[in-house]
Amino acid sequence: MLKFLNQVGNYTKEAVQAAKYIGQGLSVTFDHMRRRPVTVQYPYEKLIPSERFRGRIHFEFDKCISCEVCVRVCPINLPVVDWTFIKESKKKQLKHYSIDFGVCIFCGNCVEYCPTNCLSMTEEYELAAYDRHELNFDNVALGRLPYKVTDDPMVTPLREFAYLPKGVDSPHDLPANARRAGKRPEEILEEMEK
Ligand code: SF4
Ligand code: SF4
Repeated sequence: MLKFLNQVGNYTKEAVQAAKYIGQGLSVTFDHMRRRPVTVQYPYEKLIPSERFRGRIHFEFDKCISCEVCVRVCPINLPVVDWTFIKESKKKQLKHYSIDFGVCIFCGNCVEYCPTNCLSMTEEYELAAYDRHELNFDNVALGRLPYKVTDDPMVTPLREFAYLPKGVDSPHDLPANARRAGKRPEEILEEMEK
């Protein structure tokens, strides 16, 4: 009899505990419903890519010296550099330059090693196309000015976590003049000189 009563007591205790934990869980869930959602409402809200974001490559035809370093450092030897040698001036003349973004892995090696800085990474990440052949950018397409999240009147640009002020963890409702955490090196130097 005593054993049975013990079992009933334990069962009741466990049932009460289970109900308490479910109640706690529900209260946390309902509390979350009062908070502002962290969702970035793409395409009306877009995160501003970081300053070292590796997006679509930009190419400046006039600066290229056809050295082909970009081809050699590329993991898949991707950039196509078409040039001819001009005998009279003993110089290479660039005829055509292209990168197929359907194959590119956006590692940035070509940009890193280009001696004349004619390649650069943009913050363009919306490259979707219906036909993959459209992703093979020639030197004209590569030279287009990149799309900027901050210039689009239809878009509310939002800052990424690393660009928020100290102690802030949400990019929503941020005043426009809010500075990112920390000071610039020149500001620290200025303070040291005072
Ligand atoms: S980003 Fe990388 S994969 Fe793409 S072309 Fe440059 S080196 Fe090649
Ligand atoms: S590394 Fe730069 S300069 Fe050399 S071929 Fe490539 S894009 Fe042109």
